[in-house]
Amino acid sequence: MPFVEGLRCRECARPYPAEALHVCEFCFGPLEVAYDYDAIKASITRKKVAAGPLSIWRYADLLPASPDGLDLGAGFTPLVRAERLGAELGLRDLWIKNDTLNPTGSFKDRVVTVALARARELGFKVAACASTGNLANSVAAHAARAGMRHVVFIPSDLESGKVAASAIYGEHLVSVRGSYDDVNRLCAELASDHPTWAFVNVNLRTYYAEGSKTLAYETAEQLGWEAPDHVVVPIASGSQLTKVAKGFAELVQVGLVEPSEVRISGAQATGCSPVETAFREGHDFVRPVRPSTIAKSLAIGNPADGPYALDAVRQSGGSIGAVTDDEIVEGIKLLARTEGIFAETAGGVTIATLAKLASGGVVRPHERVVAFVTGTGLKTIEAVTPVVGPTAEIDPTLESFAAAIDVDY
Ligand SMILES: *Cc1c(COP(=O)(O)O)cnc(C)c1O
Ligand SMILES: [Zn+2]
Repeated sequence: MPFVEGLRCRECARPYPAEALHVCEFCFGPLEVAYDYDAIKASITRKKVAAGPLSIWRYADLLPASPDGLDLGAGFTPLVRAERLGAELGLRDLWIKNDTLNPTGSFKDRVVTVALARARELGFKVAACASTGNLANSVAAHAARAGMRHVVFIPSDLESGKVAASAIYGEHLVSVRGSYDDVNRLCAELASDHPTWAFVNVNLRTYYAEGSKTLAYETAEQLGWEAPDHVVVPIASGSQLTKVAKGFAELVQVGLVEPSEVRISGAQATGCSPVETAFREGHDFVRPVRPSTIAKSLAIGNPADGPYALDAVRQSGGSIGAVTDDEIVEGIKLLARTEGIFAETAGGVTIATLAKLASGGVVRPHERVVAFVTGTGLKTIEAVTPVVGPTAEIDPTLESFAAAIDVDY
């Protein structure tokens, strides 16, 4: 990682070495990776990126780990024009970033790839995390690929698909009786007790978070090296949204994209909407809540990067919306029906929030809009089984079919 200068406190700017550190000892602010952007600008070109691997590693110059660290193929997912969904929502230029197509079915593969690649460089042999589900799936898979031991922690109320998609990799999956916020607190304690474990979103969080920037990089590259006018991003801890903003800013800084304004809007479930509440009430702080929503992957009641996400949204002129569980299911069905993409509950949150922001005029009809659909529906089947099923059950005869199904096409 020739372009990393070290780490720096986001609050007081104190410098730190590029080790497994995540909070400032002086002010407890989060640490950020600091890069030599002039050197990156002198080295990176559109052509060089385009000739790179079809994964997040095509942006290795802007990431804090080395590409030969770890690769399951995370990133470079399709950006698809969504004409039919756009027509339903009154949006002329709508696109979907389809992150359901990552190796373990969610955008978490981006952040885990970077965190574990860096963890291996730092000599860690054990991968760990506090997860709302998708993160555990991704850490377990990448650890298996890398030949690392792993211990991943989840709340005990997760969907069966997410439990199986971690357990299949054959090591420790620990189901904790409590909420994600309880799991996270436990993992913070475990991280100080087990300093040789790489908790990707605790002691490796500084590196982990950088992986989300690739969503912005890819989006701009796939639009012909132009940033969109508006992006809609789901919020759990707020890390993804914050880093998407950083990613678009960096593209301008290193000369890959012309300066332009990107509005950034956030999406939450009303059953866990602490950041949306703070936005609506005009606060800078985020008051923790106790989550109760089918969007379990977004159910973080005390979001670590909530204040930074708020800041990014406000500075960009975006908004934050929240949607009910019923609206989430409608959002999943709408995306599936119009675009052929089956998203998990977090995708339902994003699409339903997009619909709400579009009907309220916040997302404007002529904007070039990109919605980040961050996880696959096959892992949250429970959310839709009450409302979808076979049209009919028939005997294997023409008569039975004709009696059951009335079609004029
Ligand atoms: C974790 C997750 C998010 C949001 O992540 P944060 O960076 O914590 O805000 C969004 N979508 C899915 C599917 C996730 O698993
Ligand atoms: Zn500090």
